[in-house]
Amino acid sequence: MIPLVSVDVQDAEPLVLEVLRSGQLTQGPMVERLEQAVAELAGVEHAVAVNSGTAALSVSLEALQLKPGDEVITSPFTFVATLNAILASGATAVFADIRAEDFNIDAALTEDRVSERTKVLLPVSLYGQMADMAAIEKLAVRHGLEIVEDAAQALGATQHGRPAGSFGIGCFSLYATKNITAGEGGVITTGSRDIAARLRLLRNQGMRSRYDYACVGGNHRLSDLHAAVGLSQLARLQTSYERRQSNAEKLSRELSGIAGLVLPTAMDGYTHVWHQYTVRVTEDAPCTRDELSSTLACRGIATGIHYPRPVFDYDCYREHPRIKASEVPVAAKVASEVLSLPVHPQLTDADLDLIIAETRAALLS
Ligand SMILES: *Cc1c(COP(=O)(O)O)cnc(C)c1O
Repeated sequence: MIPLVSVDVQDAEPLVLEVLRSGQLTQGPMVERLEQAVAELAGVEHAVAVNSGTAALSVSLEALQLKPGDEVITSPFTFVATLNAILASGATAVFADIRAEDFNIDAALTEDRVSERTKVLLPVSLYGQMADMAAIEKLAVRHGLEIVEDAAQALGATQHGRPAGSFGIGCFSLYATKNITAGEGGVITTGSRDIAARLRLLRNQGMRSRYDYACVGGNHRLSDLHAAVGLSQLARLQTSYERRQSNAEKLSRELSGIAGLVLPTAMDGYTHVWHQYTVRVTEDAPCTRDELSSTLACRGIATGIHYPRPVFDYDCYREHPRIKASEVPVAAKVASEVLSLPVHPQLTDADLDLIIAETRAALLS
């Protein structure tokens, strides 16, 4: 089977051993090195490591001190962590539909959803391509709002030269399947010294110095063992990105022009880091998305569905008092069409040839 994700962390051994020998297992020098490296990548002054991408989002929202009734506008087409973090913050989740071209929140529709209760815009930079953060930033300035970017899938991505995580507060994930992994982990980026200081307090029990508490906090600390794994991965971010990029180019070259198959594109002026290579199987195709997925599975090719429904469209969220569900026709439609094909750096030429041949065969028969 050609897997959808391939985890390769063997280079981490020396740094992990360094941590084990040092005896400093958490919130130590390796965490600091990771923070520095991510801050540089995101082009910001401060980075604060936490133990997951979900924690990055929820601690960021906590740092903004939202009150009951405050609203956060986000994308309906995202991993559930985005929504869970908003709910954990005590705020109300509001949704603006996405654009089919890039699967990211539509800035114009976002503005329609702004009310006097809106406090935060929380776009998601999906599949490795940034949301239109420049447009979101204009909205935030115009309406006096905070920005939290869910950049869990977009470490290293840029929009007109500005990196993911450099608009407002950026939240990254280092989960096992992400482009850069630590096993588990997350990093928050910000240009604000005050926000960074607050994030550092919140991640460690609100503790200023030993047994001196500045606020109510929690334990969101990252271990140095995980930081060592993440740091070793960052060292080959560029080569791994180049592989993803050339794999995506080959897929797009060889799969173009098939009726009913819409290929993903990098928007003009954006660097797409190809966390996922996600096609759409439309009604013009001879088979459905689910049929294509099963056919490929039979031929030894794993695929993924990111994501099968708008994020709030589940029973556990249906009657939630702090979710403002709305019509999101684009998200609802693409949720039935999307299929992620393997694009990871460990794919061989033979793997790519097989993915291309089997996809063409399934759709051209
Ligand atoms: C992975 C992911 C998260 C959560 O990150 P974890 O590290 O798994 O907690 C949040 N948002 C998006 C879009 C993600 O892909």
